[in-house]
Amino acid sequence: MNPKDDTPNKKEEMTGSRRDFFKRFGLIGGGIAAAGAAMFSGYKYEQSKPNHNYVKVLTADNRLVEVPKDSIREVKLDVTILQKRGREGLKGHRWIWVIDLARCKNARKCVEACQAAHHLRPYEYHINTLVMQQSVDTPFYYMPKPCQHCDNPPCVSVCPVDATFKRQDGVVLIDNERCIGCRFCMAACPYSARTFHWEYPLKQDEDRGKPYDVELNIPQRKGTIAKCLMSSDRLREGKLPYCVSACPNSVYYFGDENEDTVTNGTTKETVRLSELLKVNGGYHLMAELGTKPRVYYLPPKNRNYDFQGDQSQAVLKKEG
Ligand code: SF4
Repeated sequence: MNPKDDTPNKKEEMTGSRRDFFKRFGLIGGGIAAAGAAMFSGYKYEQSKPNHNYVKVLTADNRLVEVPKDSIREVKLDVTILQKRGREGLKGHRWIWVIDLARCKNARKCVEACQAAHHLRPYEYHINTLVMQQSVDTPFYYMPKPCQHCDNPPCVSVCPVDATFKRQDGVVLIDNERCIGCRFCMAACPYSARTFHWEYPLKQDEDRGKPYDVELNIPQRKGTIAKCLMSSDRLREGKLPYCVSACPNSVYYFGDENEDTVTNGTTKETVRLSELLKVNGGYHLMAELGTKPRVYYLPPKNRNYDFQGDQSQAVLKKEG
């Protein structure tokens, strides 16, 4: 063999084998790198992917914990007849409330009657009367504010344990036997209509041993939520709510939207709901939120109090 002739071939061979080497090395190296990357990303994936064998659970003391799925056992709730009928509500009705702000003189009889019926302390409210003023140049007025019993209630959708619920007759209730006291509903309510039982029930001894009535929220439980119940226990008896009956100033109308009638709690006069709202310009509080309240307000026309600049000096224009 002529070495001269062989040289290019040899070069070719050498170059070829070097190329093969780099090719192989490249492949192997790339493979190692890819495997390493896959292992690393797999490791990261293992770290971040949800573990489907566990579920997240909110504990009664507000901790979010994970528990193995196979250790979950369904708890059969001891639902009493009172809780069952309280969930169903009164068939065929759509309760509605109209509050005439032109008439409220802060007699607070509504507040007192409600607190007495529901065994509340003087600083616990299902309904309260607030002082309102549009600007420093306008006379103030009083506004009774219960839960608005929204048809689209944000408090209900945030409850993690189905303790608060909307009934077919429009009432929003809370079951204190289910409530875990997380207070999500308090945060979600744009009307600040809920309160929290920080202390032991006011009439603990008197109420001990009574069957729990979800329409009255008695017996109470410390560490749970309280709210206006639209006096569901009274509605069941065919009576007007406690606050509506107690008002001496004809502020409250209450009735059934299905019948288009409401009755004044003081005068007992029954009027057409649609007419009352149309003639007096009835409106919802913060209607723009889309909560669809079941409480209407009539505007505070012909204010009861003269404007004095300082509301503590305000004088009632009309006595009675
Ligand atoms: Fe719920 Fe508040 Fe509406 Fe009442 S007023 S139904 S507590 S969101």
